[in-house]
Amino acid sequence: MYCPFCQHPDTRVIDSRLAGEGTQVRRRRECPVCSERFTTYETAELTLPRVIKRDGGREPFDEAKLRRGMQHALEKRPVPTEQVEEALSRIKRRMLALGEREVDAGRLGDWVMEELRALDEVAYIRFASVYMSFEDVTAFREVIDRLEREPSPAARKSQLGLLDSGEDAGAGGD
Ligand SMILES: [Zn+2]
Repeated sequence: MYCPFCQHPDTRVIDSRLAGEGTQVRRRRECPVCSERFTTYETAELTLPRVIKRDGGREPFDEAKLRRGMQHALEKRPVPTEQVEEALSRIKRRMLALGEREVDAGRLGDWVMEELRALDEVAYIRFASVYMSFEDVTAFREVIDRLEREPSPAARKSQLGLLDSGEDAGAGGD
């Protein structure tokens, strides 16, 4: 990186160690030109991307709001809260894995529907109908068409009849 003293385009790392209980890397740097030393701290960027709405507006990702939306769709459905939290974690990991500062609301919505579909078909339809009615009727029809064509994970399981839980990890992504 640039030397902040003389703007020389390269500096040398002379020491590197963990800081902040392992959540940071502290680097001591030296400029080969002016010999000034300075310290940089490297931390993982865990700020979730902002959400780009259909109208182009940007808003911070609101986990509580997403949880409420999912819980609303799952009302009175036999789905353990823990599984909802796991689904939320997977969605957040996917957002982080993007490595972008912003994520399309549509893309986020697709991930939520993917998770809900794996959890509970009824919740999936509920969420899709609410989510899509505000957004795009055509897209909703496509979702329903797709759902009718493809067997759900639950249906696939009962068809195969020999699978235990746990093989749905593919939906989790990395
Ligand atoms: Zn310098």
